[in-house]
Amino acid sequence: MRTAKSIIIFFLLWASYEINAQQLSTDQSLKDLEYLSSPKLEGRKPLSKGSQLAQDHIRARFRELGLGSQFQDFTQPFSLPSSISKKEGKAKNIVGFVPGSELDRIIIVMAHYDHIGVKDGEIYHGADDNASGVAGLLSLAAHYAKHRPLHSMVFAALDAEEMGLLGAKALLEDFPFSQDQIALVVNMDMIGRSDNDRLYAVGSRHYPHLLPLLEEVSKTAPIELFIGNDGGFGKKDWSKASDHAPFHAEGIPFLYFGVDDHEDYHRPSDTFENIDQAFFLKAIDTIFRVMEKFDSSQL
Ligand SMILES: [Zn+2]
Repeated sequence: MRTAKSIIIFFLLWASYEINAQQLSTDQSLKDLEYLSSPKLEGRKPLSKGSQLAQDHIRARFRELGLGSQFQDFTQPFSLPSSISKKEGKAKNIVGFVPGSELDRIIIVMAHYDHIGVKDGEIYHGADDNASGVAGLLSLAAHYAKHRPLHSMVFAALDAEEMGLLGAKALLEDFPFSQDQIALVVNMDMIGRSDNDRLYAVGSRHYPHLLPLLEEVSKTAPIELFIGNDGGFGKKDWSKASDHAPFHAEGIPFLYFGVDDHEDYHRPSDTFENIDQAFFLKAIDTIFRVMEKFDSSQL
């Protein structure tokens, strides 16, 4: 009797592990990361040909996943101030949407796709910064397009972060829902490698209701989830370091996931070859676990 019971329990555990492993497509994440950081995209500088190719790729992936959008063809154009760019044309956020099954509250998942472009004839590939975050975003979008979340989810691949968080500011300014509906911003910026195998989760000092959820996930996460770097524990303060900053300035709860700067940070050598694939996939898995907990918690 006991043996039969433990065999049943074993199979139940095994089955649930199999389901978990199938939830995110790791092959596709690596393909997205490799393409976005390939030389063809020339470092994805705003208004460049490479930027357009990145937009095309993200739009095509949103389309094949069947995402909706409040923006025509997933595209939110915005102007760059002439002090920043003299070039004609508009920068573009690419924004997809999955409606929630129960709540009118919204989770925004964001990652900037722009990078530095070409300088002195050298391509700055921006594989970790931030093709990694965009590949993570696409992976999460693929999951939630198939498994409808309780919260609505906005998936925003943002432009012009490197020029001063301009895509994030544009999204906030022209947000298609009431700001009060935003329950959480999840920002991924540099999740593709780590010298100390550590992913930082930033924001819970400002929004302490998020702390228990992070602590719970960190117990079983496949990598070390370091909770801090928001001015409290961890000393560094990344509260304004990336696209979550304009939302934080409005008091909107955020979690920012990223790694320490590394030797290839903002160098041409930030390439796909220098990505730690195992770390990258575990980082996405960890962020996914946080999203799952948050979505079901109704915080
Ligand atoms: Zn970045």
